[in-house]
Amino acid sequence: MEYLSDRVKSLSVSQTLAMAQKSRELKAKGIDIISLSLGEPDFNTPDYIKEAAKKAIDDNYSKYPPVPGYADLREAISKKFKDENGINYSSEQIIVSAGGKHSLINVILSIVNPGDEVIILAPYWVSYYDQIIIAEGKPVIIETKLENDFKIKPEQLEAAITSKTRLIIFNSPSNPTGMVYDRKEMEKIARVVEKHEGVFIISDEIYEHIIFTGEHVSMASFDFIYDKVITVNGVSKGYAMTGWRIGYIGAPLWIAKACNKLQGQFTSGVCSIAQRAALAAIQGKGDSRQVMKAAFIRRRDLICELLKDVKGFKVRIPQGAFYVMPDISFYFGKSDGKTRITNSDDLVLYLLDKAQVATVGGNAFGAPECLRISYATSDDLLVEAVKRIKEALEKLK
Ligand code: PMP
Ligand code: GLU
Repeated sequence: MEYLSDRVKSLSVSQTLAMAQKSRELKAKGIDIISLSLGEPDFNTPDYIKEAAKKAIDDNYSKYPPVPGYADLREAISKKFKDENGINYSSEQIIVSAGGKHSLINVILSIVNPGDEVIILAPYWVSYYDQIIIAEGKPVIIETKLENDFKIKPEQLEAAITSKTRLIIFNSPSNPTGMVYDRKEMEKIARVVEKHEGVFIISDEIYEHIIFTGEHVSMASFDFIYDKVITVNGVSKGYAMTGWRIGYIGAPLWIAKACNKLQGQFTSGVCSIAQRAALAAIQGKGDSRQVMKAAFIRRRDLICELLKDVKGFKVRIPQGAFYVMPDISFYFGKSDGKTRITNSDDLVLYLLDKAQVATVGGNAFGAPECLRISYATSDDLLVEAVKRIKEALEKLK
């Protein structure tokens, strides 16, 4: 007999991680799967970062680190926020956690009470929804359209805010759409947030370094809402360090203190060696970020060009991150004689089975007509994957 909590029962399994696991299992069985499911750079962590981690082991960074992170790492993050984002966060306002995902749940648990509304913008990253559920908040979803580059209008945000709204989660560059809001668009959103007492906004900037057009704008750099913004970031994407599990926030002091308190009960300070590696990453002057970005631009161009030839796929050109999210609803109702496609998850399973290409269905992102492709893989594999997808889709009538 199992006695699971209602909390766990109310959660979905992370579909990004589930598809990644499925691909690994199929590969282990010798099946030639091309995985375009997991959002992680295919590059290795740069050498200067690995060296710092090796040195940290030799220097005996083996004791419990301070709960909010090493003082020098928090200072380096404070400097990074000032230099790169134009935001003033003292090191007391910074909390280092086990990945951006952990930073997000710390913030949500710190300020969301049961029944509070949290606004998310669909298509949204999968874990936002379920993290709100963990906090017993109520996700309020604002829909966007592919034709509008999956971006919200400020009027939509205004209309969604009620007396119960506590938090908005904003993400640019976006996972899963790859869309990037420009300064003017962000300022309009910030002006809406400014008007509402007791409403806060998480700005998830984990893809800030992977941006192809224009500049990255930080929500907290608009002075008039500085006190209402929690900036979430980390080293996973920008430095190819997904496995090291280091994320951080810059936030109003009272929120940082609350996250520190939570973390003191949940995890203590996070892995000492990974923190030393993150310090090297953030202080590093190498060109690894530029090299990775150049590869992502080339692959973005390649995949978008290839997808143009896939019948029925509607594609918006992403301007950042490493995802593209085609509308694939053209295939709903079609069949190869055996399998009938009724939704995006059906199509994902069909492509996994018939093309041996793993993607992630749009349902988990609040975008049931779409699927997500992560193009953080080699050019050759992208070419082969789209060729297989096309062949499999041609059989659907
Ligand atoms: N936010 C977004 C939008 C993401 O795509 C990810 C990727 N996992 C995260 C946060 C969390 O990143 P991590 O926990 O790997 O630092
Ligand atoms: N953010 C990545 C993705 O969306 C990693 C998986 C996860 O943490 O959910 O694929």
